[in-house]
Parts: sequence; C-alpha cells; structure tokens
Amino acid sequence: MKKKLFIVGGGFAGIKLCAELNKEFDITLIDEAKYHIDQIQIHRYLSSKVELEDFTFSFIKFAKLKNIKFINEKICKFDFEKKQVFSKDKTYSYDYLVISNGAKTFFPSQIKNIEKHNLDIKVLEKIIEFKKSFYKLLDSSEKKKETEQKNIVIAGGGLSGVEIAVELSEVIKQRKVKNVQVYIIEQVKEILPNMNIFLQNRTNKALDNFKVKRIHGSFITSLEKNNMILSDKQKIPFDLCLFVLGVSTEFIENKQNIKANVKNQYIVNDYLQVDGFDDVFCLGDAAQTKDANNHYSPTCAQIALKQAKYLAQNLRNAINGKKFIKQKISLQGILIDLGGKNTIGLLLGMKISYLFAYYLKRFTSYLHKKDFH
Ligand SMILES: Cc1cc2nc3c(=O)[nH]c(=O)nc-3n(C[C@H](O)[C@H](O)[C@H](O)COP(=O)(O)OP(=O)(O)OC[C@H]3O[C@@H](n4cnc5c(N)ncnc54)[C@H](O)[C@@H]3O)c2cc1C
Repeated sequence: MKKKLFIVGGGFAGIKLCAELNKEFDITLIDEAKYHIDQIQIHRYLSSKVELEDFTFSFIKFAKLKNIKFINEKICKFDFEKKQVFSKDKTYSYDYLVISNGAKTFFPSQIKNIEKHNLDIKVLEKIIEFKKSFYKLLDSSEKKKETEQKNIVIAGGGLSGVEIAVELSEVIKQRKVKNVQVYIIEQVKEILPNMNIFLQNRTNKALDNFKVKRIHGSFITSLEKNNMILSDKQKIPFDLCLFVLGVSTEFIENKQNIKANVKNQYIVNDYLQVDGFDDVFCLGDAAQTKDANNHYSPTCAQIALKQAKYLAQNLRNAINGKKFIKQKISLQGILIDLGGKNTIGLLLGMKISYLFAYYLKRFTSYLHKKDFH
C-alpha cells in the first residue's frame, strides 16, 4: 500500500512535488482554483506575448497525466493530531501533509476604499479582466482619437509592478497611443526597493525609455472616485489601477492552535516541517524559511521549486526507512524582463543581461511547462 500524500495548493511547489512523487505515493492534490498559473509569465500575457494556454494549466488534465487525484476545493482547517484536512463540507485524511497554498496579493486595509479596487493579479479571472480593460482603454483611445489623458496607475514598484508597467507601456508605444500614461507609485525613494543598484539603474533606464512616470516618497492613503490620494495630498487620477504592493498568505488554521508569523506563513524547521509534527510540511510562499546565510527566504518561484525537490527527496527517504537530509536553500539569482528581449539579472552574484538573461528566464517557464506534458 502506498502512503497517502495530501498536497494543499497546486502552485509551483505543489506541482513539482506531484511530478516528483506521483509514482511512489498515493497523491491527492487539492486546489481552490481549476487552473495552475505560471505567475512568472503574467506580465507577458498582459502584453499578448504569450497566450492563456502557455501559462495556465488545467489541474484535471495534470491529475490524469500523473495518475493522481485532484479535488477542486478550498481547504479551511487542519487537525495535525488526527491527520485530517477540512474543506467547508468534507474531511480528508493523510499519512503526510504538504501545505503549499502560496500567497495572495496584499491589499492594505489602511488604504480607504481599497476593497473597491482589489483586483488580485494572481487570480486567473482577474488577470483576464485586467487585460480586457487595458485593451479596451487603448481601443477607445485609438477609435475616438481622444486627446484627454488616460492613466494606468500601478501601486508598487517591486519586481511585478515594474515588469507589468514595462509590458503595458511597450504595447502603448507599439500602438502609438499618445494619450495613455502608465504610472508607478512606490513609497520608498527608489524602484525595486532593497535590490541591487545595477538592477535599479537598468530598470530606471528601461522605465524612462518607455516613459513610465514614477512617484516616490509618499504612500497611498485612500481611493476616491478614480483618484489615488497620496500621503502628501497629491491626487492621481486613474482609469485603470493595479495593486502589487506585496503578498500575504491566507492562513489555514489548525486545531492545535499553531500560530503563523506576521505574513501568515507557517514557521517551519530545517526539514520544512511544522514544528512538533514529523508528517506535516510547509513550503513555498506559504512557509517562513531561512537560507544558508540565515536570512529569510524571499517568496519566489525559484525557492518554491527548489524546496519541493528537496522535500521530495526527504519524503522518499521517509518511506524507504532512511534519515532526512538537511539542506538550506538559497536564491541563485533574479531575472527581470524590461521589454523586448531586454532582460537583466544577477546570477550567483554576476550581472547578466539581454539574450542570455532573456532565454534563461524563458527556460524556467519551459522547464515548468514540461511537468504538464
Ligand atoms: C506578476 C508576478 C510575477 C512574478 N515573477 C516571478 C519571477 O520572475 N521569478 C520568481 O521566482 N517568482 C516570481 N513570482 C513569484 C512566484 O510566482 C511565487 O513565489 C510562486 O508562485 C510561489 O509558489 P507556491 O507554490 O508557493 O504558491 P502559488 O504558486 O501561489 O500556488 C498556491 C496555490 O494554492 C492554491 N490555494 C491557495 N489557498 C488555498 C486553499 N485554502 N485551499 C486550496 N488551494 C489553495 C492557489 O489556488 C494556488 O494554485 C511572481 C509572482 C507574480 C504575481
């Protein structure tokens, strides 16, 4: 009899685990969504460089291919002692549990009226909705030959904000639409806060090239009738807005009352176990982990994938009566798309750019896609 492995969340981490362990375990994958999203490609979908089928994958098809069970439900509670998982109406049991429910876009409740504009770019229907609104804005500007300025305001100048701003502006430039302007609002003084100066400088250059306006030094306090109100009283009108201020996990509570950290992540030990439970693991964006230098790991696909490979090895060891190995996982690099084939990055501390960086970033998605075929 194969051991029952229950995986909550089919993101980068959950999918990689299924692909690694489908032959050795009786796997049930549960996800509240019907499709897996390769989030690394969202910005390229918005600019029509990739199609839906290039970055979204049906869980049902995946489950058939890998011979695993898939349940399309939202999990709301665990009982680690009784080895049970609860959805709204059902209870499931497991031998090993993996919590990989990722993170959702963070919408700070301090921003007044944010609930009216909380389009989560990590949710497929919302991605499609945002893209439609963007092209509708461009189409109407072109058709009516409008002169009045239309603004697309992106709140957050981190990696996602920058990549999306560049892609939208590239389309605007290619279509020669004169009256649509992309803004980034970033409360700290520079774009890509806390990132390497090389990445910041090159990104600023690309943003200048695409005429993306940046507003730094003040934060958004409220949204009033399609205006963003900033802490220094500036009023930025918008026709379309998107919040990418960061992410936060939706904590799945447990009967043992084990608490999460401030980002709602489960705090795990070096083996990715929820402390006190040898058969409960958490990884990817949903987990608080540390790298080889004892720094908190960033929430990114690269870490989620590596952790999944590492955990797969330890779960194999568990069923084969072998000891768990200890491995600290660190970020190898970062890659940022800045329009066309202008991709930049840092790989093992080395600066990389253009075609090498561009194809390296595409290669990550190519490898990921292979798990679905
Ligand atoms: C626009 C954008 C660009 C990005 N670019 C990069 C990049 O260039 N490089 C990089 O490394 N990272 C990038 N990231 C981050 C990366 O995508 C995430 O870190 C990665 O997806 C995390 O993987 P995960 O498996 O932990 O969670 P996710 O991939 O987020 O998957 C979590 C899954 O859990 C499901 N789920 C959630 N809650 C429940 C529940 N209660 N019950 C059942 N199912 C549930 C969700 O539906 C989802 O399918 C980007 C993210 C975004 C949004």
